[in-house]
Amino acid sequence: MSQSVCILGATGSIGESTLKVLQQHPEQYSVFAVTAYSRIQKLVEICKQVKPKIAVVPACYQDELAILLKQHQLDVEILTDDVGLQTVARHPDVDIVMAAIVGAAGLLPTLSAVKAGKRVLLANKEALVMSGDLMMQAAREHKALLLPVDSEHNAIFQCLPEQYLNLDKTGKPQLGVSQILLTASGGPFLNTQNLDAVTPAQACKHPNWSMGQKISVDSATLMNKGLELIEACHLFSISEHFVTVVIHPQSIIHSMVQYIDGSTLAQMGNPDMCTPIAHALAWPQRIHAPVSALDLFKNNQLNFEAPDLKRFPALQLARDAMKTGGTAPAILNAANEIAVEAFLNQKIKFTHIPTVVEHTLNKLEHSVASDLEIILQADQQARHIAHQYVGEIA
Ligand code: NAD
Ligand code: MG
Repeated sequence: MSQSVCILGATGSIGESTLKVLQQHPEQYSVFAVTAYSRIQKLVEICKQVKPKIAVVPACYQDELAILLKQHQLDVEILTDDVGLQTVARHPDVDIVMAAIVGAAGLLPTLSAVKAGKRVLLANKEALVMSGDLMMQAAREHKALLLPVDSEHNAIFQCLPEQYLNLDKTGKPQLGVSQILLTASGGPFLNTQNLDAVTPAQACKHPNWSMGQKISVDSATLMNKGLELIEACHLFSISEHFVTVVIHPQSIIHSMVQYIDGSTLAQMGNPDMCTPIAHALAWPQRIHAPVSALDLFKNNQLNFEAPDLKRFPALQLARDAMKTGGTAPAILNAANEIAVEAFLNQKIKFTHIPTVVEHTLNKLEHSVASDLEIILQADQQARHIAHQYVGEIA
């Protein structure tokens, strides 16, 4: 029977890869809803291609979208803003939700999908970084299947014993696992000694992956790896102490799991998000993805090194925020979003990004993240402080 998919963030890089995978399996999957924050023309193209029942956009684009859909004789209901996003994420006709909005904006719709007990394919790592225990608890309570799309976490999931997902939280590795090796490409500045003058265009030019702007900058500062460290701790119920970051510039191994008997399992493949997306869509089955098989004779160099925490302090900030717990990861995430935006708008230097995050973490008292209100409040306060600080150093 065909399964019905809602794509939150359909116009983005992950949205695009998701559509590419779905296109190969028209009998197995249909697209029920798509959402976009901008690029309405691109959304219309998607609607032409997959004929969804519902499209969600900000209210300011509602009229423009209605006119364009009518021109193309497409019968698509339009919903708007946060209410629209949450409506499609928990819609009874939806089986699978691809959470591919970037940043904190994805938290509420992703949580709605989890609370509705959907199969949730999680690309939007910021949502889990912010809400951590709350999201994992909701997944257990509502029997949602929260499957990692982030390539590293998808790799770890493939290397772990199957029972690992949604394990009760102990903080310690279980079932013979000793530690997780989270791989990182090192980004475009792996070998750049002076990072003071690097530009947004240079930061967005990732050596191995083609991605949205925000995650590209995060990859360049290694904040992406920091966010992923926090993501791994929550997804696999493990404390940060058991997650080691390994720089692997070729991005052929997507992460590894070590066991107490000396085994190290790795998941490998060409760096293409269609693989983890196809895996999460069909798990525990396997389906074809439009990705060529790995040729080890062409990719015959696999290198590994430790991250340089002096040039990339964001990684340590994230590790410390995870250790602190409570609202600290939400504060880290919010300050980082503000700093990345300011860097992309050429208001601050690249090296200011971790400075803004550190300043915000030091300024704000963190508290227990016992409910969503507290998390959203910490997010707002952190944005305010980070904004102010950006104004001071700009
Ligand atoms: P992107 O910028 O290409 O796309 C983001 C999508 O979110 C777009 O559809 C956009 O319209 C929508 N969006 C942006 N702001 C929004 C808002 N305020 N409200 C509602 N929708 C909004 O980003 P991406 O690279 O596709 O990344 C999406 C998520 O997946 C991020 O959390 C990222 O960290 C994660 N991720 C991406 C990759 C990748 O290869 N691109 C890999 C792993 C994880
Ligand atoms: Mg990743």
